[in-house]
Amino acid sequence: MMLRDLQAIYETPLFDLIARARRVYLEHWKMNEVQLCTLLSIKTGGCSEDCGYCAQSSRYQTGVERESLMTPEEIETIATRAKENGSTRFCMGAAWKGVRDGDPRFESVLESVRRVAKLGLEVCVTLGQLGEKEAAQLKQAGVTAYNHNLDTSPEHYPNIVTTHTFQDRLDTIRHVQHSGMSVCCGGILGMGETELDRLKMLEVLTNFDPPPESVPINCLMPMAGTPLDGQASVDIFELVRLIATTRIALPRAKVRLSAGRTRLTREGQALCFFARANSIFYGAKLLTAANPGTDADRALLEELDLQPQAPFAGVVSQHSQRRPVATL
Ligand code: SF4
Repeated sequence: MMLRDLQAIYETPLFDLIARARRVYLEHWKMNEVQLCTLLSIKTGGCSEDCGYCAQSSRYQTGVERESLMTPEEIETIATRAKENGSTRFCMGAAWKGVRDGDPRFESVLESVRRVAKLGLEVCVTLGQLGEKEAAQLKQAGVTAYNHNLDTSPEHYPNIVTTHTFQDRLDTIRHVQHSGMSVCCGGILGMGETELDRLKMLEVLTNFDPPPESVPINCLMPMAGTPLDGQASVDIFELVRLIATTRIALPRAKVRLSAGRTRLTREGQALCFFARANSIFYGAKLLTAANPGTDADRALLEELDLQPQAPFAGVVSQHSQRRPVATL
């Protein structure tokens, strides 16, 4: 989509915008279903990158301890518990610049993927930069989707990260698409960007071919010691507008209300679901950031008459399409 089309949608009167998002949603998804995902940090801290929002960068004094890679056995145990608690998607994140074929740590991740896939869960991984070969290996091991967020607009990106470029992000996403894995790609609001920056990010996402299967929309969780500590909370109506616009622009994507929910009220979260966000991360911790506990989330979903999505329901298959990502 063109930026001006996204702007026109975004600037629709709020209730009309939400009504349109709800209509679009019902053309593709079951009423009142929310997918529950678990995100596990399988290797925490000590990352060489300098992402300004991240407590795991070794460049900042954040108090996050460096931990070694979890074993496949440990990961399988946690994934089994996540499934028992209702999650249908299990995401594994590792704090490093990228993965290399032949690295024993990558071999260990591949084994973890195989074990989690055997449990019948959707498997998502976020491992940083990825080449063609590594992407193919992950796909073969059973990865459903690879997460690699754009974070923000191309223009604002260098203000947030200097150790890699926006184009590096696009290159990794292209490798993911070529492998046949789905793309999970979204952004983070509240990093000093403008509303226009958010729409520019969305413009890039809407021009992916195939479109992303999953779009996480995060609100910054300011982490002590990082350059972005102290940023103000995202305005709830700006968040709702972006969710509704994303739903309209990418109707088949899972729009995931991701990090930052502890800074939203229950009413604010309800409005995000009403605007047709249809997934949350579930569990008391999101990598290193706090997240509402599972009991609180269960209670909220029940009060809103929302049901956790059944395993593999509504997954959009994009595996037959192997076209490159749109470039800027
Ligand atoms: S976001 Fe990822 S790549 Fe960036 S510093 Fe954190 S762990 Fe490293």
